[in-house]
Amino acid sequence: MTHNQLIKNTQKLKGVSIVKVEENNQKDSVLVHVKLHKKESGICPHCGQHMPGYDAKTRARRWRALDMGTHKVFIVADVKRIKCAEHGVVTEAVPWAFHGSKFTKKFEQQVAFQAIHQSKKLVCQLMRINWRTVGTIIARVQKVKEIDPDKKFENLEVIGVDETSYRKGHTYITTVVNQQTGEVVWAHDGFGKNTFEKFYERIGEDCASQIRMVSGDGARWIKNTVNENSPQAEFCIDPYHVVTWAIDALDRMRRRIWREAYEQDKSLPKRKVGRPKKGTEPKEKESVTLKRSKYPLGKNPENLTEYQRESLNHIQKVFPKLFRGYQIKESLRAIFRSNEGVEEALKKWLSWASRCRIPEFVELSRKIRRHTQSILSTMKYGLSNARIEALNNKIKLIIRRSYGFQDVDSLIGMIMLVCSNVGRNLRPAYTADTDFE
Ligand SMILES: [Zn+2]
Repeated sequence: MTHNQLIKNTQKLKGVSIVKVEENNQKDSVLVHVKLHKKESGICPHCGQHMPGYDAKTRARRWRALDMGTHKVFIVADVKRIKCAEHGVVTEAVPWAFHGSKFTKKFEQQVAFQAIHQSKKLVCQLMRINWRTVGTIIARVQKVKEIDPDKKFENLEVIGVDETSYRKGHTYITTVVNQQTGEVVWAHDGFGKNTFEKFYERIGEDCASQIRMVSGDGARWIKNTVNENSPQAEFCIDPYHVVTWAIDALDRMRRRIWREAYEQDKSLPKRKVGRPKKGTEPKEKESVTLKRSKYPLGKNPENLTEYQRESLNHIQKVFPKLFRGYQIKESLRAIFRSNEGVEEALKKWLSWASRCRIPEFVELSRKIRRHTQSILSTMKYGLSNARIEALNNKIKLIIRRSYGFQDVDSLIGMIMLVCSNVGRNLRPAYTADTDFE
């Protein structure tokens, strides 16, 4: 086998001849100059048809390919512009890369696979690209790999709607999930009626008429949009959101207690200058303890780290009342863990919470009582609440992780890729599969 053949095989290059291979030692890179075969040249990237050239000018372009050990590899080729009857003047397609990309398909496949399964830092370190670029690649891969974008709207019967903030709480993204398959079927930036209307525009009337249930956080805009566009559907509040209300109530309580403790700490005598004598080091201030307890209190107990568990134990000792709030929240969550006896258990919980003398939870119990019917309605659809919770947490995690992406398209691409069959079936580039070519 010649060296050229080896490079072609390992980079999955087809329809080209290698003209020259050069090494740039200073930059630790290898440049592979290629020339498109006649059969492969002059193809429109949008319709795949052969089209006449537009002008005689060609331009040398390069694409980053899979690394060769320590060296970065670039494919270099002269491409020309063509004139497509339908798509106008465009740069011709090349078989190794998606249109408009500076990376080969194999490279992008690898990035997408790693971005789904690895930490931000590792992806950037191993692929030697920045996080912003990962976002651009993800958005492209998601679009290209989803062969039939309408397929996910088929048999859409039970859906969940949610809005999440990104970029430090100023901008929102609305997601719609298929509660039965656990797939995200639609995501759009913004929230409210106008945004949610776009979902209905996208799926069309036929699909909208099949929806039996829509669940959300009880916001009026969801309810109104559902009533207008799929009046046959029942509007519900899913337990995930009910638990979120409880987490919010607990957080409000924690902040109130923090304010009280802070005032008290302020009135303590100031520390003297210099190193404190042995045995007289000041204890951690109570307000500081409280400030650190936000995450342990809000998190599911099974996901706590060792440190957070300790912090929770400390709260139990120092702030028994706050800990009681925590227990009320957790018992509410436990009710929805099983699908049986929910109505009875919720009733009991309501009477407990309404008498607990914690204003935040008394208020919460009133809210839940008001919405009891909408909450219990979700139960008859036999949804697994653990799964709804897991999916919602996953979406929130992706949004947090995507911080640093250039635009919202990358963020949406990431959500759609990770929470869909496209992402689940994606394999690393270092396998012999051909479905990425
Ligand atoms: Zn065309």
